[in-house]
Amino acid sequence: MPQHNKQKGSEPVYELGNLALMSSAIETDTGLPEGTSKALQIAGMLQTTLELDKLVGVFSGQIHNLVPHDSITYEYKPLQITISNGKPEKHSCSYQLVVAAQTLGPLVFTRRKKFTANETHLLEHLLCCLVYPLRNAILYRHALTAALTDPLTGINNRAAMNSALIRETELARRHGNALSLIAADLDHFKQINDNHGHLAGDYILKAVAETFSDCTRRTDILFRSGGEEFLILLSNTNKQGAMRLAERIRAAVESNELIYGDHSIPVTVSLGVACYSKDDNSESLFEKADSALYAAKASGRNCVKHSDTL
Ligand code: GH3
Ligand code: MG
Ligand code: MG
Repeated sequence: MPQHNKQKGSEPVYELGNLALMSSAIETDTGLPEGTSKALQIAGMLQTTLELDKLVGVFSGQIHNLVPHDSITYEYKPLQITISNGKPEKHSCSYQLVVAAQTLGPLVFTRRKKFTANETHLLEHLLCCLVYPLRNAILYRHALTAALTDPLTGINNRAAMNSALIRETELARRHGNALSLIAADLDHFKQINDNHGHLAGDYILKAVAETFSDCTRRTDILFRSGGEEFLILLSNTNKQGAMRLAERIRAAVESNELIYGDHSIPVTVSLGVACYSKDDNSESLFEKADSALYAAKASGRNCVKHSDTL
């Protein structure tokens, strides 16, 4: 049964003090006379990165000789982030971090030996150094996420798509893995807007994005590449797997009855599939999928074509 020699789960850690207080806490709680320079060193190191996992790692490393610990875990639920370093042990010490009324989430230290009162007191002061850089790193992560997310559907946007296509084609080339790309475009979508209004069109786009996401695996990456156009990047997936998924998506969109107001709006999608071959780069792979999509439109819509068969 794990023991908790200090549980502060519900106790918020606000701006706990300043550098002077932290320096004196280091001196008093550890007996080290060089508290001020250590406090400055920790504060300085925490200014060196805006990446959350690095920041947590730097903090853990910097305080390790003051408060030894086996693991540190930080969670930020709004962005579904969990950072965990080390192997959790039975004694834990946890803090609910809050700064300027913003909840930053829980930070938990564990180790085999109980934390002493001096150590938990010192940790509280050390955390005052962490909360502002942590808040900045979270703001940065929010900005990055927003820049790569389509606000209407919540899936990845075109900017995210460009970099993922380059990264995945490069990985497929280097490791010789299979890679497939599906380009999808809703059929006669303009008519939906014209007949039912733009808001109905937006509702359909959101619903279709959900259907796409329900049909795909966690490793598949889904993008809204333009107005009513979507791309799905399938790593480690060959032609057979990609064609099967494309057909499953086509059938799911067709059979999903979408009701807007009093109207049931029939929706279908055309899909083009392409597979990476060794002469491809991100652009040529995209063009192959796009040509296959064009062929699917030309042959009557609501169907799937592969670029090999054009
Ligand atoms: P096709 O079957 O050939 O693809 O025909 P289509 O009508 O789907 O294609 P077209 O390119 O003619 O029209 C696309 C429409 O998508 C036109 C545009 O107004 C609409 N659209 C693009 N972005 C959005 C959006 O964010 N919301 C809504 N409601 N409509 C959008
Ligand atoms: Mg289109
Ligand atoms: Mg269309």
